[in-house]
Amino acid sequence: MQMTSGGDWICMDCAARNGAAGNCGKCGEGPVLALADPQVRSALKQQDGERERKRSRMLLGVASGIGAIVGFPLVFTLGMFIGLAAVVGLGGVIFLILRAVFPYRPRFADIAG
Ligand SMILES: [Zn+2]
Repeated sequence: MQMTSGGDWICMDCAARNGAAGNCGKCGEGPVLALADPQVRSALKQQDGERERKRSRMLLGVASGIGAIVGFPLVFTLGMFIGLAAVVGLGGVIFLILRAVFPYRPRFADIAG
């Protein structure tokens, strides 16, 4: 198991490491959780996964909106079918660009599962 510097207790709210149980020394929320507990590490990883999926959905929504606005004239120039396919493709490309430019940074990346 990996133990990271700063303490064996972690705050779920701000990911700060704490040296002892109790409330977080950084943000005051609490109680901090024991990193030695495999269930705690699993829950933190799960929370990171949920945050990443939520963020992906948000980026996909933004990309779809931009794709629809920018690509809308294509429906008239290329015709309905090819135009709509181009809009969907454009949204996909914008989504990939957004994800590359604003990569997700896991809050609990250094925790071994
Ligand atoms: Zn905290």
